[in-house]
Amino acid sequence: MTKTFGPTDQALRQVTVSCQAGETLTLVGPSGCGKTTLLRCIAGLDHPTGGTIRINGRDMTHADPQRRSTAMVFQNYALYPAKTVAANIEFPLVMGKVPRSERAGRVAGIARLLRLTSHLEKKPAQLSGGQKQRVGIGRALIRQPSVLLMDEPLSNLDAALRVDMRTELHELFQKLGATVVYVTHDQTEALTLGDQVAVLNEGQLQQQATPREVYARPANRFTASFLGAMNLLDGTVQDGYFRTPDGSPIVELRAPKAAATACIGIRPEDLRTADTSAGRPHITLTGRVRLLELLGSEELAHITLASDHKLKARLPVGTVIADTVRLCVDVERLHLFDAEGIRIDT
Ligand code: ATP
Repeated sequence: MTKTFGPTDQALRQVTVSCQAGETLTLVGPSGCGKTTLLRCIAGLDHPTGGTIRINGRDMTHADPQRRSTAMVFQNYALYPAKTVAANIEFPLVMGKVPRSERAGRVAGIARLLRLTSHLEKKPAQLSGGQKQRVGIGRALIRQPSVLLMDEPLSNLDAALRVDMRTELHELFQKLGATVVYVTHDQTEALTLGDQVAVLNEGQLQQQATPREVYARPANRFTASFLGAMNLLDGTVQDGYFRTPDGSPIVELRAPKAAATACIGIRPEDLRTADTSAGRPHITLTGRVRLLELLGSEELAHITLASDHKLKARLPVGTVIADTVRLCVDVERLHLFDAEGIRIDT
């Protein structure tokens, strides 16, 4: 799909994403990357400049929003303040001219599912943020849509409630077997809720894969550092070796390339103290500890290497006992990126 607003503003540049029935696809990326535009196009609230939208195999690119069997849950809940919770949830059925006799049963079922039964006669102003969000979800679910579209549904909740609601949503998606497209800028939400994660930046798809795959094998530098922390060390590839700027060869590449700038990526949790290398192929890095931050069960060590590269390492509490530390990382845990930031497989 391509979406252009005016002559210069390309919100989506040939983005292709897909999601199987019963799966959750999370769309993640920084502000302005085009997530909401993509979601609105799927809902039919916006129209793509080019491309095709298929739902259950049918071309819905130009179909009316009502015919798409999608339902949207908005960030700001968009509830009717003067209506009760029951009336808010029921509203799409009233609009759809579903007989009254059937409506009450369906509202009761959704209320049970979302633990709203005791709140059905309240007005939205009498509810907590999490309860309002559940009403918004109930109103979307009551139409039994083929695809549930959610735009940052947890972003108006405080941090603790967000975590609770995330788990609740996860359980709900599993229970319903719903097909969900979920927009978020939160990496944890994207990784925990998605069966598939699509990473967007500046209107372009960076990668779509399972959460495990995007984390373990990020397709480029952007994905590597947007989803989870990643130490990125610039250097060159020469004679088949990646070399840091001080010239030390630190990893051999299977496909030797001419001298080119490149970058090595190491996740902070993949660094261990050198005496725990356990015989696996690894590289060793020695550096000065600038700062040690207690994270609870682990410590985050801020380290400067002799090459002046800065690294962060997540280590068990008490591991760092001197100003200098020798760390190692298994070669299979290294990520390499070329000058354009594209992953190189070693
Ligand atoms: P956020 O996380 O901040 O909501 P987003 O990833 O959802 O961001 P979009 O809202 O899809 O991003 O916007 C993508 C780009 O399209 C932005 O550059 C935005 O300015 C532009 N854009 C979105 N809607 C319109 C519009 N109606 N008219 C013109 N430009 C728009």
